[in-house]
Amino acid sequence: APKRQPKPKWLRVKLPTGKKYTELRSLVERYDLHTICTSGSCPNMGECWSEGTATFMILGNICTRSCGFCGVKTGRPETVDWEEPEKVARSIKLMGIKHAVITSVDRDDLKDMGTIIWAETVKAIRRMNPETTLETLIPDFQGREDLLDRIIAVHPEVVSHNMETVKRLTREVRIQAKYERSLGILKYLKDNGINRTKSGIMLGLGEKEEEVIQTLKDLRDVNLDIVTIGQYLQPSKKHLPVKQFITPDQFKKYEEIGLEMGFRHVESGALVRSSYKAQKHLT
Ligand code: SF4
Ligand code: SF4
Repeated sequence: APKRQPKPKWLRVKLPTGKKYTELRSLVERYDLHTICTSGSCPNMGECWSEGTATFMILGNICTRSCGFCGVKTGRPETVDWEEPEKVARSIKLMGIKHAVITSVDRDDLKDMGTIIWAETVKAIRRMNPETTLETLIPDFQGREDLLDRIIAVHPEVVSHNMETVKRLTREVRIQAKYERSLGILKYLKDNGINRTKSGIMLGLGEKEEEVIQTLKDLRDVNLDIVTIGQYLQPSKKHLPVKQFITPDQFKKYEEIGLEMGFRHVESGALVRSSYKAQKHLT
């Protein structure tokens, strides 16, 4: 078997520190709050939390899909918790979150694909935290416009949907998704009044430079505002292998290309995750 490549030095991260971080960490433990930041041990926790940004996952921890890059468990999902919108809103209040990113597993098992809980969560957060701004990082809802309309109706400040990879690798990386369908969703959101649309891709899955640039072009063509580009890291040996560690210079190059194309914000770097510096994306 081929040896796993050692991680280059730019991927080594410092442990998060700081007063705000320590405070939030103990709150999260004491009240058993569910943030992706802690469950995925995100390298950016120190930075995000001190700025008052955190990511919350709704609709359970088990996904109906099985993307080759993703560490979330696949299987029969949990029953819907109708108290969840209130619980998330309360967590945000407790943690004093200024900008919340909400995301979910895919719920292809539900008739509404989870969109009722999605909309109720946004509404509950607004009621309890009128100052908090929101980004909803949504699944594809199988491209159904009537379901996307439920998200549009509660007007999150930013709506994001990740392409995750280039066109050629989409089947391999997220088997149940479609490249064109995801682009269509981003277009629909923008055409129907969402102020800021956003998408993210991961690099190091075997994509070529011209394919990355083509993806950026496709995203510009649907008037996308914000793009995030980060390094793919294998969550476990069962997941897709890392084909390549992208160098800091290459990330910088993509950032420059993206800005030149006219994106409002481009976050491009090895440790960039889709919610990294999310607060900045309101402007
Ligand atoms: Fe949390 Fe996202 Fe920031 Fe990571 S990048 S700490 S998941 S908000
Ligand atoms: Fe992970 Fe989302 Fe794919 Fe589910 S749909 S496996 S949560 S990336």
